[in-house]
Amino acid sequence: MHMAEPINLEAFRQKKAQKLQKNWLGRFVWLYCPACETIEYSEVLSSFGRKHKCGTTVEEQEVELDLSVEATITLYNLGIIQAKLAEAKKGGLLKLAMKGMYKLLKQLEENEKTYLARLEAAGNCRLEPLEGEWEELKKNLPIKETNVLGLEVSEFRFDPMRRFRPNQKGERE
Ligand SMILES: [Zn+2]
Repeated sequence: MHMAEPINLEAFRQKKAQKLQKNWLGRFVWLYCPACETIEYSEVLSSFGRKHKCGTTVEEQEVELDLSVEATITLYNLGIIQAKLAEAKKGGLLKLAMKGMYKLLKQLEENEKTYLARLEAAGNCRLEPLEGEWEELKKNLPIKETNVLGLEVSEFRFDPMRRFRPNQKGERE
């Protein structure tokens, strides 16, 4: 009998984790235009197919992801970017090299903000980061790569082209 079982803390934790995860599962789709060779993600799924602005039907790869996990990684990245922006400002924007860096950081900040907004749109809720120390959290997050700026690239966002060329790498996901 399920009800008669003694309370098992680990099982309880797992159940809770599962429940949490279930609540935040979402589906995103990568859209690839073979004519323009451009790729973008969307939180909007379509069962009827869709066309790129050039008129070509895009290839689509749907991916299930944990919105809360993605938001955690994105918020971490935003923290890194904003710290670097503050640094760049202090360093003096007059230097040409700094200007380029500042512009790049602004673009990256915009990308992360957009991604977070899309995640929240998909979940129809405000997403909070998972609790815990980053170094500890990180071990259990689907991080595929840390780039040169120290930003974490999640499994979902890592090299999206690999999803559209199964033969080249022999794997499709
Ligand atoms: Zn196109």
